[in-house]
Amino acid sequence: MGTESFTRAIDAERVLAQIDREALARDCLDFVGVRSETGQEQDGAAFLAGLLRESGWDVALDEAAPGRPNVMVHLPGSGGGPSLLLNGHVDTIPIGKSWPPRRDDAWIWGRGAEDMKGGLVAMVHAVRAIERAGVRLRGDVWLTGVIGHETPAGKKEGPRRLIERLREGRPRADAILIVEGPCAIWRASLGSAVFTLTLDAARLPVHTLKVPYRDNPVRALRPLLEALDELDSRLAARPAHPLAGADQLNVGIVAAGDYPNRLPVRVQVTGTRRWGPGRTADAVRAELADLGERVARAHGLSSAVTLEAAREPFETPSGHPLVRALRDAAERVGGAPPDEIGLPLVGDANLYVNALGIPTVYYGPAYDTAHSDAERVSIDRLVHVARVYALTALSYCGPLHRHQPG
Ligand SMILES: [Zn+2]
Repeated sequence: MGTESFTRAIDAERVLAQIDREALARDCLDFVGVRSETGQEQDGAAFLAGLLRESGWDVALDEAAPGRPNVMVHLPGSGGGPSLLLNGHVDTIPIGKSWPPRRDDAWIWGRGAEDMKGGLVAMVHAVRAIERAGVRLRGDVWLTGVIGHETPAGKKEGPRRLIERLREGRPRADAILIVEGPCAIWRASLGSAVFTLTLDAARLPVHTLKVPYRDNPVRALRPLLEALDELDSRLAARPAHPLAGADQLNVGIVAAGDYPNRLPVRVQVTGTRRWGPGRTADAVRAELADLGERVARAHGLSSAVTLEAAREPFETPSGHPLVRALRDAAERVGGAPPDEIGLPLVGDANLYVNALGIPTVYYGPAYDTAHSDAERVSIDRLVHVARVYALTALSYCGPLHRHQPG
């Protein structure tokens, strides 16, 4: 072992020794006990700010919406290393009928435990451990908590404000690690959009006595759904993304007409389309527009397609330095190489990567109980991810050694 790697190993052990299971569990339970439903994140943001201030760090509150601040801490490195932004969302879906906050030996229970107060607490403890071990990083570390993540109540106000700030250069980040999700390196997601295909007849909604059924515009619904069947088969035949899987198409709403004996003059199909890296929202829209146009023409109708909430896919390469740092850290902490995964699910990484071109990955304690009433997070997993985040920052940002051995 060379002097440098020997020093790194010592640093790593000193840092890991600073991570305290009891304190992590206590802070996570306390955080889960604070309401921060989407739209009313004030108390959650205040809790996170307080937790960060316990380390003596300067906390910036940045109102992403009136009274709803993002929380941000900047820890300057000594210079010369890449800067890492750690990120999570402070809001939770409505508490609803979820189990009240409590803990036992193994678990923290309650809304937000897994999604994602556990990850945020682990992030704070990880960086605190580096400081307490007396290790100075070369690159900067930014710790950020955003509001307005959970849709539909959230309109991504927090992530969008953070994107504005990143564009302005404060924070300045070479890579982003989002501290939620499965306990694996999640580095690709499909894109997604809600699509609506509309076919319109150039006639009035008159009494159906005046129009024979064979001329009823509603009959375009069958060929429209058949055309979607064909598209679905074509998508299934395309090569699937190795991590995020195949393109997907599904339908949630079919609508036509509003009265038993009045002519329906509009036929509408609304659904979700998901697509892999390499394809774009524009291409997806064009494909659907084409399909609608063909059916409309055959039935003397006009067609239109709209895409809402479109998010482009993202993929961060396996060889990116942050992915490598995470892989090494997770293997060292967990004893085996971590899985590298992709999901059809769209998250904030889709926004950060596509708006800014900043490579982004997720690594979280688990994604098993999020949004369920039995939401919980394993305390061992919190310790695991805190250790992984600490070692990742240490190797990605580069440690500076105060005391060179020998
Ligand atoms: Zn989440």
